[in-house]
Amino acid sequence: ADLVVAIDGPSGSGKSSVARRVAQVLQLRYLDTGAMYRAVTWWLLEQGVELTDTERAAELTARIPLRMGTDPQRPTVHVGDVDVAGPIRESRISAAVSAVATNLGIRRELVARQQAIAAERGVVVEGRDITTVVAPDAPVRVLLTASEETRLSRRANELHGESTESTVEATRDEVLRRDADDSTVARFLDAAEGVDVVDSSHMTLDETVRAVLDLVEK
Ligand code: C5P
Repeated sequence: ADLVVAIDGPSGSGKSSVARRVAQVLQLRYLDTGAMYRAVTWWLLEQGVELTDTERAAELTARIPLRMGTDPQRPTVHVGDVDVAGPIRESRISAAVSAVATNLGIRRELVARQQAIAAERGVVVEGRDITTVVAPDAPVRVLLTASEETRLSRRANELHGESTESTVEATRDEVLRRDADDSTVARFLDAAEGVDVVDSSHMTLDETVRAVLDLVEK
């Protein structure tokens, strides 16, 4: 079968940039599973569903017309005909996504869809539970970590285009709250058995990509 590279990591670990670059170098597809949880959140809010109504939310998720474009040069996310790549990055979605990610019915549905995509052909899959749940048998499984300081600074750069004292402060709540919420479903802070840890705190993007490629060649 084709190669599957599984990459987990918290917000700001740099996993999206690293996963895309690794996919490009190895000529694999690229799947951002966080974007799937975000797209479901966007859709449920759009339909006016109470996220606390877990049964209804899971029922609707089973029917979401979600399409993930897996070209690492230009990944896309559509719900039906709507391009949601922009909207799913809004702070209202980041604030609500944990309520969706803790819904076990929704997780079951999205994990099945992720596994179906990974079964089609070689792919780099990134998320929170890829090394443990989605692709526990992948030949390459990486946990990408970074210090809290580094993650806040990277996230501030992503959201505000610069990392200053004030943008880092503005990012702190979002990142640390999401860490805490996520820790109940995705134990991304400890590497599962057989998972290689890459700490990118003091590494450039190129160096981190190299470190992951070294694990693939190993
Ligand atoms: O990767 P990103 O930060 O965009 O993911 C958004 C949210 O989706 C995470 O905070 C987490 O709650 C959820 N998620 C998840 N499992 C994954 C990927 C993301 O629970 N595999």
